[in-house]
Amino acid sequence: MQQEPALEFSDWRKLWSLKVPPNIRNFLWRCVRYLLPVKEVLRTKHVVVGGGCSLCSSESETIEHIFCECPIACQVWGSHSILHEVSFVEFVKAELDNHDNDRALRMAAIFWTLWRVRNDLVWNGKSWSVSMIKAQVDVLISSWKQCYSSPESSTHDHTGGFVAAYAGRMNCARDPYLAETMAAKEALTWLKNRVMPNTIVELDCLNFCTNFNSQYEDFSYIGLIIKQCRVIARDIGDVHVCHVKRSANHVAHVLARAAGSFPVLTEWDTVPPDCISDLLLL
Ligand SMILES: [Zn+2]
Repeated sequence: MQQEPALEFSDWRKLWSLKVPPNIRNFLWRCVRYLLPVKEVLRTKHVVVGGGCSLCSSESETIEHIFCECPIACQVWGSHSILHEVSFVEFVKAELDNHDNDRALRMAAIFWTLWRVRNDLVWNGKSWSVSMIKAQVDVLISSWKQCYSSPESSTHDHTGGFVAAYAGRMNCARDPYLAETMAAKEALTWLKNRVMPNTIVELDCLNFCTNFNSQYEDFSYIGLIIKQCRVIARDIGDVHVCHVKRSANHVAHVLARAAGSFPVLTEWDTVPPDCISDLLLL
């Protein structure tokens, strides 16, 4: 059932435009690519793990089981037959197709919460009641709707949920184009080390974006750095570089302005730095 599932799912545009925080989209992406470390996926990677489903302990812990077939999942969904004999990937695709009428949001919230509940049990020995899970699903759906359905946030696709940040001073160049290019290379290397595929890189340096996306070879010094950027982007996976006006990327601009006070390149994970925390939606 799990052979080549990656080939089945192709609705990436729908998935990446879902109005949920970027880390949730990334999580859904890992679900449909069968990359989530449920026990059956770990076994295919020769990691020895004992037991069945962490929640009901009766069936094998596959991705479709934990999100759609487990008795706990069925209670959260309020139905005994979620998949209706279609594959997990087909199910996700059908729910995403309906994302105007909230089904996609509900699916994302249920999957994400069940995964959290599963991990809380596995790693912290903490169990959630079905009513707690349902309440959490409702909270997520309403907060996503509030954050991502307002006119100004839906016009910008970078929805403002914090994943991580990276900033610092670079003593590299007086030429702004060269400085932007070296900063872009630094940022791409950082993304590569963090293993963040499917990334949209937005810059206000039009020269860099045009050159990066161009087919032509540029043998200048900057051209060679841009070529290195393309190689790094290819290693990362699906990376899109696009140009935005500085005003459309306010958070990055504020962070860059504050970077003068950071002594070295600094990274923030999960919790954003104070200078931008008020600007983020979640
Ligand atoms: Zn189960």
